[in-house]
Amino acid sequence: MASDKMTSRIALVRSSKESDRHYMARTEGGVARMKNLLVLVGLGCLLFALMKWGSSTLTGLGFALIGLVLLCVTFYRNKHTARPNVRSSVADALARQHTQSVQQLRLLGNVDAVCPNCNQRLEKKPSRKKKCPHCGQFMLVRTRPSDRQRVLVTEAQAEEIEEQWSIINGTHDAYLAEKERRAKERAYLAIRLGREPTQAEVRWSLLQQELDQYARERNSGAFRNAKLEMADILRREGKSMEALSLYLEVCYLDLNDLDDTRSITDKELLRELLPWNPNDATTQLAPAVIDEVLQLIEQTGISTDTLQDIFFQRASALRSLFRLRLSPTTAWRRIREALRSGEG
Ligand SMILES: [Zn+2]
Repeated sequence: MASDKMTSRIALVRSSKESDRHYMARTEGGVARMKNLLVLVGLGCLLFALMKWGSSTLTGLGFALIGLVLLCVTFYRNKHTARPNVRSSVADALARQHTQSVQQLRLLGNVDAVCPNCNQRLEKKPSRKKKCPHCGQFMLVRTRPSDRQRVLVTEAQAEEIEEQWSIINGTHDAYLAEKERRAKERAYLAIRLGREPTQAEVRWSLLQQELDQYARERNSGAFRNAKLEMADILRREGKSMEALSLYLEVCYLDLNDLDDTRSITDKELLRELLPWNPNDATTQLAPAVIDEVLQLIEQTGISTDTLQDIFFQRASALRSLFRLRLSPTTAWRRIREALRSGEG
């Protein structure tokens, strides 16, 4: 419902913008036609004055004067005022439109410490996602684009604010495409599972499709990011062993990503990409990922041998998929170093 309203409101903003643009175009055309008419009338007066000169000097003089004044006025306006006027009014109209479209965005959420779900007062305004002590629903914290205030919102309002930002940032089409992709996947999963899928299930399914695509495109960077997101989902769901395997894959890809920069011969570019020492494994690997691996090792109580087995199995598959240069053996040595220094 809310998104329908939003869409129609956007359509409204769009159509008002378009009609403004048409209006501007029409006025510009009108001004040009008016000028042509004045020039023609001016020339006509001069011609008439020339014809009348013989019979009536006074009438001739009068028409000659009118003609000259008309021509002078037209040329003067053309040179000094007409163009800049049109241009600045276009700029004004555009600026006005932008302010209008920001103002037309609905003000969402609560600036004060009030739950957006049950409207009960809170002891303190939370600074991040939190459950309301009164109704038990989640309250999210967002910055709304209309006035840049930090507000407490419901999950549905958070989504609407995301859409508002995409309008402000000019990425609304991409936002809508992604939303449609999610909706289609949700509908498909609902049929397959025979129940409404969770948000994580929808995201997981989409990530799997993206993963296939990135593998086909040999895009190891995007593949790595998708794997990391999947690892985070698994960890949140308590699937520690599976999460651990994926974090190890991310580590192997990170080490190789850096290894790829060795083909770059431009020293300046290399310095920009590698502000750190390329032989130091602890800085090549993302510290947050190493932290996750360490925590999961502790949680699962996995032995080093088993961990190594999993790593080699996963790394070998990745190596042949992306034709990675760093051998799993060298990578494993570096990961072990990073894990040891992370422990200490
Ligand atoms: Zn509440």
